[in-house]
Amino acid sequence: MEPGLKNDGPSLDTILVNYLDTLTQRVNYHLGYPVNICYDHYATLAPLLQFHLNNCGDPFLQNTVDFHSKDFEVAVLDWFAQLWEIEKDQYWGYVTNGGTEGNLHGILLGRELLPEGILYASKDSHYSVFKAARMYRMDSETIKTSVNGEMDYSDLRAKLLQNKDKPAIINVTIGTTFKGAIDNVDVILETLKDCGYSQDRFYIHCDAALCGLMTPFINNMISFKKPIGSVTISGHKFLGCPMPCGVQITRKSYINNLSTNVEYIASVDATISGSRNGLTPIFLWYSLACKRPRDHEFVRRWQLSCVKDMAHVIVMPGITREMLDNFISELVQQRKVWYQNGKTNPPCVGEDIGAQNCACSYHKIDYISP
Ligand SMILES: *Cc1c(COP(=O)(O)O)cnc(C)c1O
Repeated sequence: MEPGLKNDGPSLDTILVNYLDTLTQRVNYHLGYPVNICYDHYATLAPLLQFHLNNCGDPFLQNTVDFHSKDFEVAVLDWFAQLWEIEKDQYWGYVTNGGTEGNLHGILLGRELLPEGILYASKDSHYSVFKAARMYRMDSETIKTSVNGEMDYSDLRAKLLQNKDKPAIINVTIGTTFKGAIDNVDVILETLKDCGYSQDRFYIHCDAALCGLMTPFINNMISFKKPIGSVTISGHKFLGCPMPCGVQITRKSYINNLSTNVEYIASVDATISGSRNGLTPIFLWYSLACKRPRDHEFVRRWQLSCVKDMAHVIVMPGITREMLDNFISELVQQRKVWYQNGKTNPPCVGEDIGAQNCACSYHKIDYISP
C-alpha cells in the first residue's frame, strides 16, 4: 500500500473497504497457520478500542492511572495458575505479547537463576528459543528429534552427561510449531535425575504456545507440582484472541530474584516489555469466560450436583410435580438453544450410563425431543 495518499487516488474509506473485503474472502482459505479464527466476541468488545489501555509493569501492582485492565489480567493469570496447579500466593505471571515474549522471559529466568547454565532445546523448538540463546549469549545444545518431532531423549541424555559440570536450562515444547509434537516432561525429569542433576542444577521452561490449553484435558503433563520453572502459552492460537498475546506463569520466588536486580528504577520491573497491551487481557478473560460449557448457568440455576459430564436430580420429600415439570420444560427449551447451530453437541456419557441412554451424536438417541 502506498504510504502517501495522492489527491486523485481512492479515498481512505475505499481503501479500507477494499482491505476488509479481501480479508473477508481470504478467511475461507486460512489453513496453514495455527490461528483460531472463530472469534465472534469482537462486537461486544469493540467499544474498548476508544481507550488507550496500558498495563505497564507488574500486573499485581496497581498503576497510578486508571487506564489499565490489571484486574482482568490477574483473573486470566489466576485461571492459568489453577490449570497448571500452582497456588495463588505461589505464582507470578503476566499477559505477554505472544509466545516469543514468554520464551524470552522463561529462558531469562533460567539464566538468572543458573548463570552458567547451558540451554538445551530440541531442533524442532520454536525459533524464538534459539533467538533467546543468542540474545542472552548462552551456550546451547540442539537436541535431535524423532520423526514425529518429539525430543530424542537418548540424545538429551548423552549431551547432559557431556556437560555435567554446568547446570541445565531445558526448553520443553508442548506442541511443536510444525508437527505438533509434545516433549514428555516426565521423561525429561527422569533423564535429568539419572544423569545426576539435582533440582538446584536445572531449570525447565515449557513452551506450550501451541498445545498448552489442550494437554491439561488429556493428562496432567504440565503441572507446577513437578519441578518446572515456567510455562508460556499463546493467546491467539487455540484461544483465538484477535490480537497477538500470550500468558506466562512462573514461581513467585523466581521473580523476586529477577526483580531485585532492577530495584533502582523504583518499581518492580519483571516483564520483558515496558508498555503492555491492556486490551488483550480483556479479550482473553472474555474468551475464557465464554468457553465455559453453555450449560453452566443452567446447572447453577437448578443447583445440580455434577460428576464428569453428568448431573443428577434427586427427588426428595418437598420436591413437587410442578418443580419437576418446570425443570423438564426448561431443560428441553435450553437444549434447543445449546445445540441449535450444530457447533456444540451433547457430551458422550455412554460409558457411564450405557450407550442406549446416551444422547451424543454417536449414540444418538433423541430421547427428549418433543
Ligand atoms: C507460535 C509459537 C511460538 C511463538 O509465538 P508468537 O506468539 O508468534 O511469538 C512459540 N512456540 C511455539 C511452540 C509456537 O507454536
